[in-house]
Amino acid sequence: MTIRIGSATQGATCVYCHDALGKVGVSCPCGARYHEDCAAVFGACAIPGCGRPLAADLERWALPRLGTLAQLLRVDLEVNPALAGSSAVVCLHTPPRAVANDPRAAQAVANVLGPGHAAFDARLRLNTDFPEPLVRTASRLAADQVVGELQRAGLVAQAVGLADLLKPLETRDPREVELLPTQLSCVGADGERWAHYLDEPYLVMGASVFHVSRKHDRRYSTGHQGDRGGGARSTRSLHSHEVYSRDPAVFVYSSRDPVPSLLQRERLRTIHVPGSAGNRAENWLTLVKRLERGAAHNVTIRGANSPALRAPSRPGYPSDKSNLLGLLLVGRLHWLQWTQGGARGLKQG
Ligand SMILES: [Zn+2]
Ligand SMILES: [Zn+2]
Repeated sequence: MTIRIGSATQGATCVYCHDALGKVGVSCPCGARYHEDCAAVFGACAIPGCGRPLAADLERWALPRLGTLAQLLRVDLEVNPALAGSSAVVCLHTPPRAVANDPRAAQAVANVLGPGHAAFDARLRLNTDFPEPLVRTASRLAADQVVGELQRAGLVAQAVGLADLLKPLETRDPREVELLPTQLSCVGADGERWAHYLDEPYLVMGASVFHVSRKHDRRYSTGHQGDRGGGARSTRSLHSHEVYSRDPAVFVYSSRDPVPSLLQRERLRTIHVPGSAGNRAENWLTLVKRLERGAAHNVTIRGANSPALRAPSRPGYPSDKSNLLGLLLVGRLHWLQWTQGGARGLKQG
């Protein structure tokens, strides 16, 4: 991480994510400035030797929604691992419709989110098809108390150590897969090989990966020579339009590893499924069906086009309109729930 010191640009960018700061921000007495979201997630000043808590007068910090939070997890905390400290995050798991529409549940979530969050905001977080991080607390004990509050309103919530959450969201992307009786063999783009052992417990999450990208094309018009030798000049113009694509995907997690293999239908060159001599589309369906059938835990994300999964546009991030980072955070939260926090509870096969 580079820390910019002095000069006219000081204070213009957030020390955590290096993006431009608007008028609203959180300032540390040492002069460092942060986005409110970054301050809520990380909690302490990132300047080495400072580390002062940001917004110290609160017990709970409302977290941004999934896509924004997922984007912040790209921040490399190697520089100061102590920042995760004893903080914990409370995550709400999707309630049944009847509970989600119960005004008491909405009130409980609004209370947890704190001042400035009305029942409307709470209802948004209740009516999703994926886990929702709600607040960061200063300690695990405080997080357990919040979990208790939510449980009394009939909700299912989980406390996760901030250190377990604050890891970059990574995937392994196979280009070729072969489904064998006890393993899924994968080959990556650079020839790297790995396997998922299907006789050991694994988690499968199915979702559609959305990409919205902006395509630019340059158009030239050549000038013509006028009668007097003047004439029109050549002009160059830039046109752009949005390209939208949606690709069925399966995320496969082993109980030991929070980094999933991401099988994306359109990115797989070869799908080899013995006993299925069908075409690509049929092989894909057979692969998905068999992986789901053998999974110890199976999740389908239906609301994958939800705006909550997409991060707002920020400079310097290539696919800021994709839901992929949001989905990876959803997968991590399911993985943490399934393994009961990642550290303990690894299931025996
Ligand atoms: Zn920031
Ligand atoms: Zn500071």
